[in-house]
Amino acid sequence: MKYSALALLRGALTGQRSWAPVWRSPEPKRAYDALIVGAGGHGLATAYYLARNHGLTRVAVLERGWLGGGNTGRNTTIVRSNYLFPESARLYDFSLRLYESLARELNFNIMLSQRGLVLLAHSRHDLDAMARWANAMQMNGIDAQLLSREEVAARAPLLEMSPAARFPILGGFLQRRAGTARHDAVAWGYARAADSLGVDIIQNCEVTGFLTGAGGRISGVQTSRGRIDTERVGIAAAGHSSVLAQLAGFRLPVTSYALQAMVSEPVKPALDTVVLSPGTGAYVSQSDKGEMVLGASLDLFPSYAQRGSFAVTQSIIAATLAIFPAFSRLRLLRQWAGIVDVVHDSSPIIGATPVPGLYINCGWGTGGFKGIPVGGWTLAHVLATGRNHELAEPFQLERFHTGRLIDEAAAAGIAH
Ligand SMILES: Cc1cc2nc3c(=O)[nH]c(=O)nc-3n(C[C@H](O)[C@H](O)[C@H](O)COP(=O)(O)OP(=O)(O)OC[C@H]3O[C@@H](n4cnc5c(N)ncnc54)[C@H](O)[C@@H]3O)c2cc1C
Repeated sequence: MKYSALALLRGALTGQRSWAPVWRSPEPKRAYDALIVGAGGHGLATAYYLARNHGLTRVAVLERGWLGGGNTGRNTTIVRSNYLFPESARLYDFSLRLYESLARELNFNIMLSQRGLVLLAHSRHDLDAMARWANAMQMNGIDAQLLSREEVAARAPLLEMSPAARFPILGGFLQRRAGTARHDAVAWGYARAADSLGVDIIQNCEVTGFLTGAGGRISGVQTSRGRIDTERVGIAAAGHSSVLAQLAGFRLPVTSYALQAMVSEPVKPALDTVVLSPGTGAYVSQSDKGEMVLGASLDLFPSYAQRGSFAVTQSIIAATLAIFPAFSRLRLLRQWAGIVDVVHDSSPIIGATPVPGLYINCGWGTGGFKGIPVGGWTLAHVLATGRNHELAEPFQLERFHTGRLIDEAAAAGIAH
């Protein structure tokens, strides 16, 4: 069904009885040309691009819970491409460009809002680091603009701008094309489009083992709903990537941590940009519903509990109030966490694994929502052709053996 103003009008005039389920709930078949493990954004985008770019439609996405119920439905929805190294800049900007046309392509409103992202400088050192960072972005052909103290204040008037503040704001830098998108809509849009191209999305179906044949090549997977045969599998399971790798008999350099976020009660529009303060760890945006969305730093102990620790909740609220004292009047509405897959260089892994026929997309850690389109595009490419997409070439698992890391963590000094 094509969504349009006319379809809305038809719905309104017919008592909203014309809407069909947005995707099917099929039973798993015995065999597929390709299987994807994990129906988060990356898994669903992979299935969509397998069908749309490569004509592979005998594809199933296997999800142990419900689609979009992992990090894709738990994140703070920030999209940006303000990375330092050329490899990352190319990867994330390709993703942002796909986001820019995604609503039209999927015929689903993903509510992309390019409201800009302002990074705050709290010291002379921050100003120097940001100048270097903005220059690198511009050399990579990505928009970046250094902001004076006054320009920062004009963009977010509720910021604490007093020079005597605990974290004085000396300036900042802006990526105008950055912003937010509706996280659920990204998952639902890809799911609907993949389903309409023939992909089976099978929820409540946990992958419990990998089957191999001659030469150790993938021949299928064992699931909570029985065995399914295939010659190619793509894993897109974020915080559970290392669990799945262990089932397949290899190790990943991934540590799984809880990353938490929270929202305030909804209020009238008060903040029309995304504000990120690397120095304090606070980052804030206002959702379209009016809630202030607060992101936090990692709980620094490995965990699979999707809660987050109280100490981090407290510290992120303190950091946010230090830069936005007016928010102390807001009540907290909800807090939650997701399990993110952190690798040493804070760059993703997209490509082959030691098991022939088994490919992986992981390591996006705290920042893979923005990478969903490109993660799906490049994993689909390697699954369909057996060759790495050129954008994914630098992001192979083998870099942890060769030492060719793309150390965005050390370079940028920010987590999200
Ligand atoms: C609080 C928080 C804030 C964040 N903020 C941002 C942000 O602002 N911007 C940004 O770019 N990124 C952000 N991220 C990171 C981003 O959410 C993730 O990198 C991204 O959503 C990962 O998508 P995914 O599809 O790989 O994983 P997920 O959405 O987690 O999907 C993986 C799926 O695999 C399934 N699965 C696991 N094991 C199995 C199994 N054995 N069998 C079958 N299915 C299985 C899970 O149930 C899950 O649904 C944030 C993350 C969190 C937690």
